[in-house]
Amino acid sequence: MSVATESIETFASLNPATGEVVAEHPVQDDAAVAAAVERAREAAGWWGALGWKERRLRLLNIKGSLTRNLNRMAQLIHEETGKPLQDAQLETILAITHLDWAARNASKVLGPRNVYPGIMAINQKCVLEYQPLGVVGVIGPWNYPVVTPMGSIAYALAAGNAVVFKPSEFTPGAGVYLAELVAAVVPEHPVLQTVTGFGATGAALASSPGVDKLAFTGSTRTAKRVMAACAENLTPIIAECGGKDACIVDSGADLDAAADAALWGAMANAGQTCIAVERIYVVDDAYDAFLGKLTDKARDLRPGFDREAAYGPITMPGQLDIIERHIQDALSRGATAVVGGAESVRRPYVEPVVLADVPDDSSAVREETFGPTVTVHRVKDLDEAVEKANESSYGLAGTIYSGDKSRAMDAARRMRSGMTSINAFAATSQIPALPFGGVGESGFGRIHGPDGLREFARPKAISRQRFSAMNLTSFTRTDKDMNRVLGLITMFHARRYKR
Ligand code: NDP
Repeated sequence: MSVATESIETFASLNPATGEVVAEHPVQDDAAVAAAVERAREAAGWWGALGWKERRLRLLNIKGSLTRNLNRMAQLIHEETGKPLQDAQLETILAITHLDWAARNASKVLGPRNVYPGIMAINQKCVLEYQPLGVVGVIGPWNYPVVTPMGSIAYALAAGNAVVFKPSEFTPGAGVYLAELVAAVVPEHPVLQTVTGFGATGAALASSPGVDKLAFTGSTRTAKRVMAACAENLTPIIAECGGKDACIVDSGADLDAAADAALWGAMANAGQTCIAVERIYVVDDAYDAFLGKLTDKARDLRPGFDREAAYGPITMPGQLDIIERHIQDALSRGATAVVGGAESVRRPYVEPVVLADVPDDSSAVREETFGPTVTVHRVKDLDEAVEKANESSYGLAGTIYSGDKSRAMDAARRMRSGMTSINAFAATSQIPALPFGGVGESGFGRIHGPDGLREFARPKAISRQRFSAMNLTSFTRTDKDMNRVLGLITMFHARRYKR
């Protein structure tokens, strides 16, 4: 069984573009979540003992099944979020690449390896390995209902854990379908269960003493509540939260490419992306030309639910008020709406909005907007661009467009974020081998890549004494032993190092 069905109360997931009911799902209460966690405990024991080779095979077959059902999954995402079908397909493709990478690399990253013990312990054979934690709880958002939780689910499963997944109430269907696909390939035990419901269902998962680690993706506000609930059981968490990412455009950058990428970064998925471009800092001599190109391109975009629409509706109705407030606040403080304006909010859609001359202390610059709006700022040079980009409590990702490789690398290093992509938007997040995560209010912990695998495992150190040598930690140790070790230490470590 992959989906717990103890509860009889149900809720409807709606198509945010049409208001039509996509499907009904059970509201799972504390008891249902506890039962799922208990089943996961047993599944984890079995799955963890299955071994790297068999788990790899099963995960690759889950990947194959998701690939064969890509269009069905994408259609579900399209209906539940309202995003264009091609965007939903792209999201599913990215989820497939994560499953593939995690399956193929888990044993290499986490499997046993010999460790050199050092000259002082040369008689020891040392093995380091990473063991599964047991049961991992995953709480996901609605904006990327498959690829975002997959960043935790695939890596947690590959590390040998069982997963209980609570999708957002706006996108439960994609999570339920994912669990069904997994159950078909792994019928023996429910290694992935999806529990559906509202915030209370997520809260039950976070406060469950049976969960060994909680991977949360969502708003910073909810992350703090989840962390407080997890503190009761000392359950460690990963918090993948919001952002206010910046795009920097240096003088000498390819402005057509920069405008194209910044526009996609700001407007794709109606701006409902944790790593969306929300602020653009353009070096003075490139500013006018860049803004002209961005403006021309933005005017061509149209939201809708049809095949030609650039992006869909705002998925969560409450977000429309925030977007409207940010636009109005910026305009009332003297900003210029270069494209669109307050009238661009046409529920459930928001047309593209490009704002210039926005004061740094306005909510459109400070808070996560999560809409198809972007602020563009003139800065004197690259240093000021980095300084302004870093003036944020968030620090998730960022983009730099520059024609100078070493200037761009230096600026990327100085950008206060977990990820920076140069001359492309969000390339780091599309590469499964690279870690994904932020700093500050954007959260902590990493999904994806070797770091993402290690998040769902605990290091286990084992040493085996091969022959007896000096025994310094014994009451029988002699002055001779001690003098020998003092001699060795002096020989290896006492010298002065020169530059
Ligand atoms: P929310 O914080 O509102 O919800 C996230 C998840 O938490 C949902 O499944 C929600 O369930 C659940 N939840 C709500 N209340 C609780 C609670 N008290 N205890 C446990 N779980 C709870 O975020 P959104 O769904 O609105 O997602 C958008 C946010 O996610 C944005 O800030 C965005 O930037 C961020 N995000 C971050 C990403 C990253 O990787 N860093 C990627 C994608 C999004 P329900 O929906 O049923 O209320």
